[in-house]
Amino acid sequence: MTDTSFLDWPFFEDQHRAMGEQIRNWAQQSFGDDGFVEHEDVDADCQKILKQLGQAGWTQLCVPAAYGGAYETFDVRSLCLMREHLAYRSGLADFVFAMQGLGSGAITLYGSDALKQAYLPGVADGSKCAAFALTEPEAGSDVSAIATSAIEDGDDYLINGEKTFISNGGIADFYVVFARTGDAPGARGLSAFVVDADTPGLKIAERIDTIAPHPLARLEFIDCRVSKDKMVGLSGQGFKAAMATLDVFRSTVGAAALGFARRALDEATNRATSRKLFGSTLAELQGVQSQLAEMALDIDASALLIYRAGWTKDKGASRITREAAMAKLYSTEAAQKAIDTAVQIFGGLGVTKGSVPEALYREIRALRIYEGASEVQKLVIARQHLAETQS
Ligand SMILES: Cc1cc2nc3c(=O)[nH]c(=O)nc-3n(C[C@H](O)[C@H](O)[C@H](O)COP(=O)(O)OP(=O)(O)OC[C@H]3O[C@@H](n4cnc5c(N)ncnc54)[C@H](O)[C@@H]3O)c2cc1C
Repeated sequence: MTDTSFLDWPFFEDQHRAMGEQIRNWAQQSFGDDGFVEHEDVDADCQKILKQLGQAGWTQLCVPAAYGGAYETFDVRSLCLMREHLAYRSGLADFVFAMQGLGSGAITLYGSDALKQAYLPGVADGSKCAAFALTEPEAGSDVSAIATSAIEDGDDYLINGEKTFISNGGIADFYVVFARTGDAPGARGLSAFVVDADTPGLKIAERIDTIAPHPLARLEFIDCRVSKDKMVGLSGQGFKAAMATLDVFRSTVGAAALGFARRALDEATNRATSRKLFGSTLAELQGVQSQLAEMALDIDASALLIYRAGWTKDKGASRITREAAMAKLYSTEAAQKAIDTAVQIFGGLGVTKGSVPEALYREIRALRIYEGASEVQKLVIARQHLAETQS
């Protein structure tokens, strides 16, 4: 990463500056310039990366110190720094790291001590692979439409239903599953459960292939029996647990987009300063300078929003709904634009399979959809704005 001057900003403490340097070097040594190669076996590569992250101690950032982690609670700035630097080198490495946090986040925030003891140390050392199962075929942006049910049966719950687009589906050791436990309408009747991957009644019904492949699946639950002590938090707290988890991790999606955008700018700058045409280099053309300027500007603006959100949360804010939505919305949209510009500056090479701009172009797309599509983030920001101005 060429520009690391942002680490001098007042949002950071010295520990972040040191960590930023360490993760930058580690990612460079671990993935070099080949992190965006096509993965023949994404499952195996994810498992290998998880082991690497675990052995290096990086997955400890996803878990509180009392359960084998690094900080007392989530340090959002560290999570963002990790994702930014990993995404700069490898979309798959960023994905593997992010899922450890997202997949176990509800347990950290709402789980009983017994659940934390059982699952979090494995997440911290990379020996347990985590997944977050919220989306259903008929309930994506509209979480209140979740139909998967969990019905009490003696000391257990029986889960029936379907989840789709579940990252790590097929390789996860456990899934945090959101299901309807009560008659309360919409989001109020939801609860969360930890379901081990080998629980009878849980089936990987379909693997889903995407433009930037990573393990992704549709899950089926047929009379899947989980004991009551696998409930995360209280009955009816599922929606709250899901939203609080997303509140922490939304800013980190922005940080991943920022890492992709920084890589796009570095690639575009190298290409523009070396490509000769019309008797000079691309970089000497004013039109190209304007493109590079816009990329650099959008990158700084994204970083300011992301680290503002992280700093606000780390300094004690209970929720950062508005800040996280702004960080995710702006950074993912800006990264898409920056990467498209990099493809343009590369010309034909930019759309050639195997080139870094081509890989970035595929990697960035889903970030504008998952963990709340851009349109949903606008609604969130507007609601917060109206509530603040009308109160
Ligand atoms: C690569 C990938 C990984 C994923 N991983 C996970 C995972 O690990 N766990 C999990 O639970 N889910 C996961 N998802 C699912 C993801 O969260 C959903 O795809 C997302 O919430 C959108 O839901 P949907 O696909 O059903 O689209 P829909 O809800 O049908 O929305 C379609 C489009 O409608 C528009 N839209 C939606 N709401 C509004 C609105 N209020 N106003 C205006 N326009 C709107 C948006 O453009 C949106 O993209 C993943 C998805 C992808 C693509």
